[in-house]
Amino acid sequence: MEEYEKIIMLQDHHYFEKKYPTLFKHEYGGIAFDKGWYPIFNDLCDELQNFTEMHFTCIKEKFGTMRIYYDVYNNEGKYVGNSKKDIDDIIEKYVNRARSTCEKCGKNGATNKYRGNWCQTLCSLC
Ligand SMILES: [Zn+2]
Repeated sequence: MEEYEKIIMLQDHHYFEKKYPTLFKHEYGGIAFDKGWYPIFNDLCDELQNFTEMHFTCIKEKFGTMRIYYDVYNNEGKYVGNSKKDIDDIIEKYVNRARSTCEKCGKNGATNKYRGNWCQTLCSLC
């Protein structure tokens, strides 16, 4: 089984909290998207864990796209915004990957509009 298949099989998101404790050091409300995006999110966390001053504040899907919100504070609780550009660039790269990845199964997908304004990024089978 490939690494990404193992990650899709995960039962819950606590896997990420244990693997990347600095990114989840504050309350963030859970991961509000389906498991097809978990492998992308895993790679995103791999890159972001080097920024020890950052932590997630919200992780969700909206209008068919992955949304990642975060804050940057050092150990003294001071806001440190100088790494934000680098962090934003990394997040953008993975958000773009999610745009063409089925949120349910992780295969190639596209963002579809249906039922009014409701959007989801899915493959042709899901
Ligand atoms: Zn699918």
